[in-house]
Amino acid sequence: MRHKQQLVPLGTLIGRELRNDKLENPAVKYGQAALAKKGEDYFLIKLDCQRVPGDTATSFSVFAIFDGHNGISAAIFTKENLLNNVLCAIPPALGREEWLQALPRALVAGFTLYFCLMCLLGSLQLAGETSGTTVTFVVIDGWTVTVASVGDSRCILDTQGGVVSLLTVDHRLEENVEERERITASGAAVARLNIFGGNEVGPLRCWPGGLCLSRSIGDTDVGEFIIPIPHVKQVKLSNAGGRLIIASDGIWDALSSDIAAQSCRGLPAELAAKLVVKEALRSRGLKDDTTCLVVDIIPFDPPVMALPPKKKQNLLYSLIFGKRFQNSSKGANKLSAVGVVEELFEEGSAMLAERLGKDFPLESNTGLFRCAICQVDQLPSEGLSVNSGPFFSPGSKPWEGPFLCVSCRRKKDAMEGKRPTSPAVTA
Ligand SMILES: [Zn+2]
Repeated sequence: MRHKQQLVPLGTLIGRELRNDKLENPAVKYGQAALAKKGEDYFLIKLDCQRVPGDTATSFSVFAIFDGHNGISAAIFTKENLLNNVLCAIPPALGREEWLQALPRALVAGFTLYFCLMCLLGSLQLAGETSGTTVTFVVIDGWTVTVASVGDSRCILDTQGGVVSLLTVDHRLEENVEERERITASGAAVARLNIFGGNEVGPLRCWPGGLCLSRSIGDTDVGEFIIPIPHVKQVKLSNAGGRLIIASDGIWDALSSDIAAQSCRGLPAELAAKLVVKEALRSRGLKDDTTCLVVDIIPFDPPVMALPPKKKQNLLYSLIFGKRFQNSSKGANKLSAVGVVEELFEEGSAMLAERLGKDFPLESNTGLFRCAICQVDQLPSEGLSVNSGPFFSPGSKPWEGPFLCVSCRRKKDAMEGKRPTSPAVTA
């Protein structure tokens, strides 16, 4: 009898677990809308990813936009491979917090790997393929949102209190002074297009190549100073949640972050995405591919009996978005001042040594080291530390930072303007 009293039925235990899970993890609801002009925008929605394969309690979602240019190959290739490349760069068997901490570095490795692979294989160049793509890649795990981006496909966050903040940085030469300085220091020229009579037109571009962006994936013809190293930002929402709007520049050339957020507040994500695209079209016409993802990260619905069914949606949204019409633009980009969103990580440096850290785990038990970018195991003598100088001698100095194989190390040096862009001669 005593024992029977202490036993809790399995169903009750499972029910408790599920309820706890619902309290700890938000619901993710999304909508997508697009209008094509050139047909070079792609997007990715993946809700069923798992940190531990087969364990649904470790699930996370991915939302991404790829705005291609000069063709679609880079956008399609990146859409199909980037997630896998990022996951391969995360050490196995990590708990949730460790996994989230490892994610920014894995995103840098995943974005950079494409660049190394393409240049190494020369496959795009051989095919005369010079396409490139912006990438805005969003990982949502519980209330934690991690955004990695190259190019100008913005991701904004609209949170309680009407504060709209940018989670990406625009890598546009016209607007980004730091990137202009980096590129000119690498030996490229930044100027507008010259037309007859010497008149300059259009936005600032990088020469050779004429690209308006300073970072992208692909673009193998323009030189290695156009880099794929992403800006990464990681925030933790309060349990009131928030809304992400991820979109290609077809939206952002027409609408400010605040206008985009305001135009769809209080509406379900599916309708919101359509409205943002419609608003951009109304204000500017269809001049470019226009793609928009709206993702709501919101508490699970309260028990149905507590709310009249027809008003449930409105009440839920007014709980989350109710106060936002006061001070909508003040405090943009100052997430920490809001008090409801915790900034966990932000880094945008173009230097791989700063992005890959100094404590990357090495594969020492086999005597092999793993390249921090391409994840290939090699003998220590076949590569270099990310922080080491041109000569590496294991006996004379301590190991500094992650290991890079020779080809990844070569690409790193090229991206940092440390060697000519012509291929190195190998013996
Ligand atoms: Zn490598």
